[in-house]
Amino acid sequence: MKKILPTLIVSALLTSCNSTQIQIDETPAKPNVKNIIMIIADGMGPAYTSAYRYYADDPKTEEIETTIFDKYLVGSSTTYPASVSGYVTDSAASATALASGIKTYNGAIGVDTNKNKLETVLHRAKKLGKKTGVVVTSQVNHATPASYISHNEYRRNYNELADSYIDNGINTDVLLGGGWKYFIRKDRNLVNEYKAQSVHYIDSYQELNNLPKNKAILGLFADEGLVEAIDDVDKYRLSTMTKAAIPQLENSKGFFMLIEASQIDWAGHGNDINSAMAEMTDLEKTLEYLEVFVEKNPDTLVVLTADHSTGGLTVAANGIYEWKPQLIRDLQQSSNSIAKYFNKHELSPSALSEKLAGIEVSKIEADNIASIKTIAKKKLSTYLSLSQEQKKGQYKPNVIKEINIAIKKLIDKKTNTGWTSGGHTAIDVPVFAFGTEKHRFSGAIDNTDIAKTIFKLLEEK
Ligand SMILES: [Zn+2]
Repeated sequence: MKKILPTLIVSALLTSCNSTQIQIDETPAKPNVKNIIMIIADGMGPAYTSAYRYYADDPKTEEIETTIFDKYLVGSSTTYPASVSGYVTDSAASATALASGIKTYNGAIGVDTNKNKLETVLHRAKKLGKKTGVVVTSQVNHATPASYISHNEYRRNYNELADSYIDNGINTDVLLGGGWKYFIRKDRNLVNEYKAQSVHYIDSYQELNNLPKNKAILGLFADEGLVEAIDDVDKYRLSTMTKAAIPQLENSKGFFMLIEASQIDWAGHGNDINSAMAEMTDLEKTLEYLEVFVEKNPDTLVVLTADHSTGGLTVAANGIYEWKPQLIRDLQQSSNSIAKYFNKHELSPSALSEKLAGIEVSKIEADNIASIKTIAKKKLSTYLSLSQEQKKGQYKPNVIKEINIAIKKLIDKKTNTGWTSGGHTAIDVPVFAFGTEKHRFSGAIDNTDIAKTIFKLLEEK
């Protein structure tokens, strides 16, 4: 809203102003962002959000419904790491860029190319008196969350990273995800150390319903990453954790929160379209909750991006103009758990079809998977008959893994899904934002711009 000030007052205030009228903006000169929620959908390149639109499409209607991702798309981001690592980033370098605004080498956690520690937006928010929260579906000391919370020259120093969460001073008011293996060890029990610092510890999703107010929370729900969404007792566990975390973080000074849909990336590495879409469904549910939260709390900003794309997913492949996500919409378990079943049960077209929620399976296709299973079992029994000495340096055949790969390939063939890699790709990723100041993330930006803008927003009052 604009207001015209009388000439007299203006000339009294502004001696150098020759104009007879001056426009004063009555909206606050600087924004007031109270809460900032940063979401990283690990590995979710643009093919994933396109795929999800068709996967989520209601086939009973003529139109293709837009998704919550379409609704809040504001631009795209480059993801390349520091030049020493080329053009293709890993999650550590990208998360460090998103958290600190500085590009670094692949594998670096919150340190620059000279291994100097970097301040992150989470650290700054804490320093400014805001509460901080981290909610992820990986282990809490995995690359992305660790890059916001801590510093280490190498992402796989998992125990060191977990130790640093305590040793550098606890800087999260809520920390939820997996990681028993790293927090409860023979040499050190970090859970007990958290408890000694009056942090409330939980280890089951049920306890999320009953968190004590005004206490910091540590919630660990798995040895490493959480069970993948499609097989978990709570298929919407990211959404469940987020819903529980936010009331703990709300306070008069606001909060900064990192949410990571960690396992979209893992599904991408596994070239597993079924699991990727299940992880995205959980993320969509999380966004739907946050949309309502922002409506009620308009001084909140939500920014969502991916750190990179994974797997080189393509929505249709092999020169065929067809993608058939409807075939996997009704699947209620992962190909890995179907593989575990067929490790113990006979593979037939009808049994496979039943487990694959009705996908038609021919005898040739079933026989192919059965022979892969037979060969893998033979290799395993040969391996097991070797002496300890002979086993050294040999890879132990994994029958379930072999069946799983064959099932995933069958699903790809049926749905016509393509993959070009088991790793990351350097394609630009989409950026989504809603709530106050969302326009600050629009257009073609770089991943470091996201941190730079968040730093500015934290300082602006
Ligand atoms: Zn990855």
